[in-house]
Amino acid sequence: MNEIGAGLRPAAVPDLESIRAQFPILGRPMQGKPLIYLDSAASAQKPRRVVEELRRFYYEDYANIHRGIYELSQRASERHDRSRRRVQAFLGARDWREIVFTRNATEAINLVAYSFLRPMLEPGDEILLTEMEHHANIVPWQLVAAERGAKVVAAPITPEGELDLAQLRARITSRTRMIAVSWVSNVLGTVNPVEEVVDLARRAGVPVLIDAAQAVQHLPVRAAELGCDFLVFSAHKLYGPSGVGVLYGRAERLERMPPWQGGGDMIERVSFEGTTFNDIPFRFEAGTPDIAGICALPEALDFVEEVGLQAIHDHERQLLAAAEEGLRRIPGVHILGRPRRRASVLAFTVDGAHPQDIGMMLDLEGIAIRTGHHCAMPLHARLGLAASARMSVAVYNTREEIETFCAALERIAALVRGSGTEP
Ligand code: PMP
Repeated sequence: MNEIGAGLRPAAVPDLESIRAQFPILGRPMQGKPLIYLDSAASAQKPRRVVEELRRFYYEDYANIHRGIYELSQRASERHDRSRRRVQAFLGARDWREIVFTRNATEAINLVAYSFLRPMLEPGDEILLTEMEHHANIVPWQLVAAERGAKVVAAPITPEGELDLAQLRARITSRTRMIAVSWVSNVLGTVNPVEEVVDLARRAGVPVLIDAAQAVQHLPVRAAELGCDFLVFSAHKLYGPSGVGVLYGRAERLERMPPWQGGGDMIERVSFEGTTFNDIPFRFEAGTPDIAGICALPEALDFVEEVGLQAIHDHERQLLAAAEEGLRRIPGVHILGRPRRRASVLAFTVDGAHPQDIGMMLDLEGIAIRTGHHCAMPLHARLGLAASARMSVAVYNTREEIETFCAALERIAALVRGSGTEP
């Protein structure tokens, strides 16, 4: 049995009916059938309270922040500040100044690559990643490495789809300037031992970034306790609005980093002779952000914490175990990886069928899954695949949905076998 978040307290099973009632979109028919949404790893659906807060904010509190002397702008600014403190509490950061709002996790990683790493990179330096990274945690590093004559090195995964810690350790050299690792793989679902990765990095004196885009919605995250230098996530995968991301950075790191993008809000004083910059975190927040999205984010965090990450974790683990069992029984279906700890995600292939065809056939049944390389082409290449199909579960999925999905896939796999297209 896969174990996610070992060591968490047992929790009550969530009241699924009332949880589902908070997501009106789940009641929309697709292809004339009830929607079965198994693509939350790409983006989670939004509970009513998040959408209503967006609406309420626009109707009652909306104005640009940090600039207005009038009451409405001050109200919006105050809400925006409160959101930052709410994210600080959610991530267990020591200081609200360690929370930078970005557009998404991708932008947060780019910010670190360009502002933190680029100025210190020299020819021959190395950036250490893993084979299971999302493109968002590969390409920004490649861009700065190419510019500076540095190189990106990837630590391999084991045949089970786990991070090979010994191999990662072996690849830390005197030229390693950064280690960046995903907490949870968006393809294999592997929960990486980030505590050990951070420990290795700290012992070697190398800064470390944790890509928590697939983690914060499934596991409790305590950034300061973890001891990483940077940690990123996107609100939209955490039942929050799209267009909002978070960079957590230790204050002593952020304080030494130059601005990345220039513009309004990030300055202290501007003249044509020169400009001085604002304090952290504002120095990294040029221009008008998604004010309403940021202000509605606390509703998503409250939702997750009120249901309880432990309860979410237990529920998702049961669904995942049922899906895994169901899929393993279908001839011709192969699940990618067999990690000891898996969160939310199962990727698979079906003999004789292109993943896209599988996705299209499931769609005809109202079942939404993702197909393709899932922005992890190097991982697929490592597995000898061009693409795969991926299902992912969230707090609102039910056991019946998993059974319907498995039954549909069984029919599809039988059809493919019967059509004789099997290699
Ligand atoms: N990292 C991981 C592990 C992801 O799964 C994703 C989204 N699929 C990202 C980073 C990038 O997230 P976003 O597109 O919201 O920036």
